[in-house]
Amino acid sequence: MPGFEFFGDEERKEVNEVLETGILMRYGFDGPRKGIWKSKELETAVTQVFGCNHAQLTSSGTAALTTAMAALGIGVGDEVIMPAFTFVASFEAILSVGAVPVLVDIDETLTLDPAAVKAAITPKTKCVMPVHMCGSMADMDALQQICTDYNLILLEDACQSIGGTYKGKKLGTIGAAGTFSFDFVKTITCGEGGVVMTNDKDVYTKCDAYTDHGHDHLGVDRGADLHPFIGYNFRISELHAAVGLAQIKKLDTFLSIQRKNNKLLRSYLEQVPGITFRAVPDEDGDSCSFLSWMLPTEAATKAAIESLKEAGVFAGNFYWYANNWHYITKWDHLKNATTLNRLHDAQTAALLALQTQSFAKSDAIMSRTISTAISLLWTEEQIKEKGEKMLAAIAKVL
Ligand SMILES: *Cc1c(COP(=O)(O)O)cnc(C)c1O
Repeated sequence: MPGFEFFGDEERKEVNEVLETGILMRYGFDGPRKGIWKSKELETAVTQVFGCNHAQLTSSGTAALTTAMAALGIGVGDEVIMPAFTFVASFEAILSVGAVPVLVDIDETLTLDPAAVKAAITPKTKCVMPVHMCGSMADMDALQQICTDYNLILLEDACQSIGGTYKGKKLGTIGAAGTFSFDFVKTITCGEGGVVMTNDKDVYTKCDAYTDHGHDHLGVDRGADLHPFIGYNFRISELHAAVGLAQIKKLDTFLSIQRKNNKLLRSYLEQVPGITFRAVPDEDGDSCSFLSWMLPTEAATKAAIESLKEAGVFAGNFYWYANNWHYITKWDHLKNATTLNRLHDAQTAALLALQTQSFAKSDAIMSRTISTAISLLWTEEQIKEKGEKMLAAIAKVL
């Protein structure tokens, strides 16, 4: 999965060009920066590599989601439908713009269940936010149809699925807007960073100003910029963008290694009767950063985890169901509406209601799902050894 495994001379070269001038900021200082504009260059590269009209870099993936929501006009009084299996950033961004997160079940794609989305729509629903978890994608045709039928905004959280596609389109470029994270463990990294992608010029222009205090970037110099609206500072630095610029050039290499390693490991797990794999709406589009597989029961899954640990091959495997970061079961801070500052009353009420909401369908899937992170550094020999050991450890308990 992670680009940090391939950090090298290319990244150092890009960063050193910024260090040579000492202009670490992405805006202004036109003379001293001597033509070095890493953030702008990375934004152009993102539009070219992923096939979208506009890209706005941000300081993180979470900031990218917040920015996208603000630019799409999502705020107080609005509900955003999101999956119960995701990273905590999804609801953080929704709450930060004043909207209400509406959590619904996932299906065997490990992403939004279209039927659950439909059932959760109310007059307040403004946006549907699929999260393309663990390298693969949601059923975008079904979700797009729902958004068209009910006049809702489709916002893709593609933070974990850089390079994945759905029917030929890059994940993150299908909805009204989409986001990537470039944090340290994502498919390409800036150290910290993120991006909003969109084909809508108006949405982009809003993102551009919003991430820089609302400055409109139309003044003769920065001090002359006007403020069409209030913004924040979600800027990326030139040092971070420089790392990303080196990484995006390696994306094709990352993806081809990921796919090769994923397929080879899968060929071992496929030999275990009882193992099934996550449903992938477009197999060709899987970025393959993870291999996600399921056992028949929760008990068998827990026994397999113990057996994998005993065999010394559990490292790199994720049992999200018992993980504090990624699934509703463990999000007590969310369900108790524990915040430092006061939320809107509708937000608090919605969060407290999560305490009694059933996610039985998601539980039945997540309690049986293990995701294996695919390393770019594995040799074929290592994958074979890992595959054989995993196979034996799992077969032992089934
Ligand atoms: C990583 C991640 C984010 C947030 O990205 P940061 O850059 O860490 O803020 C958002 N959503 C998902 C699904 C992620 O995995």
